[in-house]
Amino acid sequence: MLDNLTQRLGRVVKNLRGQARLTDENISDMLREVRMALLEADVALPVVKDFIARVKEKALGQEVIGSLTPGQALVGVVHRELTELMGGASSGLNLATQPPAVILMSGLQGAGKTTTTAKLGKWLKERQKKKVLTVSCDVYRPAAIEQLKAVSTQAGIDFFPSTAGQKPADIAAAALDHAKRHYYDVIFVDTAGRLAIDEAMMAEIKDLHALLKPIETLFVVDAMLGQDAVNTAKAFNEALPLTGVILTKLDGDSRGGAALSVRHVTGKPIKFAGVGEKLTGLEEFHPERMASRILGMGDILGLVEDAQRGVDQDKAQEFVKKMKSGKGFDLNDFKDQIGQMKKMGGMAAMLDKLPAQFSAMAQKAGGGMEDKTVRRLEGIINSMTPGERSKPEIIKANRKRRIATGAGVSVQEVNRLLNQFEQTQKMMKQFSKRGMQKMMRGMKG
Ligand code: GDP
Repeated sequence: MLDNLTQRLGRVVKNLRGQARLTDENISDMLREVRMALLEADVALPVVKDFIARVKEKALGQEVIGSLTPGQALVGVVHRELTELMGGASSGLNLATQPPAVILMSGLQGAGKTTTTAKLGKWLKERQKKKVLTVSCDVYRPAAIEQLKAVSTQAGIDFFPSTAGQKPADIAAAALDHAKRHYYDVIFVDTAGRLAIDEAMMAEIKDLHALLKPIETLFVVDAMLGQDAVNTAKAFNEALPLTGVILTKLDGDSRGGAALSVRHVTGKPIKFAGVGEKLTGLEEFHPERMASRILGMGDILGLVEDAQRGVDQDKAQEFVKKMKSGKGFDLNDFKDQIGQMKKMGGMAAMLDKLPAQFSAMAQKAGGGMEDKTVRRLEGIINSMTPGERSKPEIIKANRKRRIATGAGVSVQEVNRLLNQFEQTQKMMKQFSKRGMQKMMRGMKG
């Protein structure tokens, strides 16, 4: 996800950190790089201009220039401004109403509305123990109704049947009535999307909105559409009182621009991100963590959460404890984590959350083929003794050669793994010592 943007900004960040002095010249160089990276990522021009202006103003301010480590301070500014750009604080779903909480799903056809409805329903059922009902008002495509039924069943949530012969408003009213009488906590109303913005579609969803008075009106948009995603978001936002946005397909080769522009253009929070076709491919959207990821700093908190959700709860707990104490996290844990990651359905999401230097290494080793990368890393770690895994620093040159032979890789790869692991460990220690917030503040110098 967002690989190019992360690579480019990661490079800027790396260069900046090393700058002992900031001059007009290196500040403008940096701003030019950031500007180009954002434009290439398909961030809307007015958003880029505004962003650059804010960073520039702060870069020339006392906080940065007067800092002992101005390079780092400037990285801190970029991080904070990116976070702000994506909405600052994260905001979950608002269900604070007399049940059932009605959630109206809007968006163009193919955006991922139906899939996201099931993902969110599953999320609410499993994490918040909500009783969830879904209904489709897409009377134009009978296949859409069938699809919602199929994914709802798969998600383990209830589905209210409808047919192509009915009026959308009648379906919605009947479903709402059913939800009330059967004490549902949440009802998702999936609507018809068209291929492009269309008067009739907008009028229909406005009527549904007036009828249902939803507490959440979510706009689902395909992040891969880049600038178009932003334009559609704008149009829907003008037609409907949206309460939030869900960006889908952030796992694809989206250039990331939508993630950075949508909030600025609509003023509405991005609440969730779709990161896969499977029903588990959904993440809460945290601007601060996303900014860290984009800048190649990794998303340690996200990793911890994934670990907590891991299949083996005991091991996950142990891992979290170690992360928090900053003590004793070693390659044995890493090995366990890899095992769990595989169980948790793949590597891509996980790699995204690792600090750039680490995931870049993994990517390089495997040429972007994540599962292969994992097997190589695992092979290397498996070729070590438990003692070596807990104290990698005892591994001498001849052992490295043996480990490499055992794993069928080069000695350089073994070295790379060890170096990167050391870095990650350092970072975790720093993280646990001061907490993420403080770490960010620490970057100001
Ligand atoms: P709708 O027309 O808006 O209801 O869109 P669908 O829910 O039918 O989704 C359209 C396509 O996008 C389907 O093939 C989904 O599997 C796919 N899709 C939806 N969300 C995601 C996502 O987050 N990542 C990926 N890779 N595919 C997604």
